[in-house]
Amino acid sequence: MSAILRVQDLQTFYVLEVLGTRKVVKAVNGVSLDIHENEVYGIAGESGCGKTTLLRAMFGNIEPPLRHFGGKVLYRMDGEYLDALSLPLHKSREMRFTYIAYVPQGSMSIFNPVSKLRATFMDFLESHVPGTMRKSLLALAEKHLESLGLSARVLDAYPHQLSGGMRQRVSIALATLLRPRVILADEPTTALDVVAQRAVLQLLAAVQKELQNTIVLVTHDMGIHATIATRLGIMYAGKIVEEGYTPDVFASPLHPYTQFLIHSLPRIGDKRVRESAPGNPPSLLHLPPGCPFHPRCPYVLARCREEVPPLLEVTPGHRVACFLREVNHGTA
Ligand code: SF4
Repeated sequence: MSAILRVQDLQTFYVLEVLGTRKVVKAVNGVSLDIHENEVYGIAGESGCGKTTLLRAMFGNIEPPLRHFGGKVLYRMDGEYLDALSLPLHKSREMRFTYIAYVPQGSMSIFNPVSKLRATFMDFLESHVPGTMRKSLLALAEKHLESLGLSARVLDAYPHQLSGGMRQRVSIALATLLRPRVILADEPTTALDVVAQRAVLQLLAAVQKELQNTIVLVTHDMGIHATIATRLGIMYAGKIVEEGYTPDVFASPLHPYTQFLIHSLPRIGDKRVRESAPGNPPSLLHLPPGCPFHPRCPYVLARCREEVPPLLEVTPGHRVACFLREVNHGTA
C-alpha cells in the first residue's frame, strides 16, 4: 500500500535561550512513519511526549522556538511526493485546508471571539477559494453543518454562545469543508463531556467514511484509539516506540510502555487497581542515555542503559523499539 504521508527521520527541537544559556528540547527526535490513504492513524502517549509537535510539523507549521533539524514530511500529490517543510510559501498555503487540514487542540483558538461564526467561515473561504465559488461553498457549509447534526443557524452565533462540544464540531466542519485528503486532529475530544466526546468521534468517523480520506488523530486516550484508529503509533520521549494495527497492538502490546498504557485502561466489571507506568516521563531537555524508557522499565537489560533500540518489524505491520523483541522473538 503506498503512503499518502511519509515522515522520514524527522527531528524538530525547541531551542530556548534561558539566562544566556541555550537549551534544546528534543520534542520530535527521529520519527519515521508511513500513513496510508483511507485510514485513521492514531498517535498515543503521555502528555509531553512530542505528539502535538509531531502533528504541527506534519502540517508544515514550524515556527520559533521550534526548529527543523532534519528529516522530511512528504505528501503524495498527483503521483509525486512533496516535502511540506521545504515548499515555497505560496504552495504550502495552497495545500493547507485544500489538501491537509488541521484541527487544533481547543476549538476556541481557531475562532475569532468577537466575530460571528459566519464571518469566520467567510474569512476562511476568502483565503482559500476564488470569489466565484464562495457563495456556493457557504451554502454547502450550511448543508454540511446540518448533515453533521448542527443547525445552520450556529453560523449566526458567536463562539462563546456554543458549548465546547458544538464548537469542536463546528471546527471539524470548517476544517473539512474543502474536502482535504489528510486531516490532522489534535486531542479533538479533550475537555468534552462523554456525550460530546462521542458526538465528535462519530463525526470524525463519518467524515472519514464519506471523504475516504486519512485522519491522523493525536490523543492520550487509549480508549478513543481502540474505538476509531485503524493503526496506532505509540510515542515516548519524542520517538515512536511501537506501531501496528490497533487490534494487534491491543491484543499483544510488545513495548513495556504500551503494556502499561493498555493495562491502565479501566474495564467494565474489573475492580482491580489499574497499574500505570512507574515514575514520570523524562525531560526532553535531558534525555537518559540508551533506551529513553529504561529508568521506568521493569525489564531493563544492561544494554538498555547504553544503546537506543531501533524500531524494527517483529510481525507483519507490527514494529517495536525494544531489545526484548530479541529475547521474545529471536529477531535482531
Ligand atoms: Fe525496557 Fe530495555 Fe525494552 Fe527499553 S529496550 S523498553 S529499557 S527492555
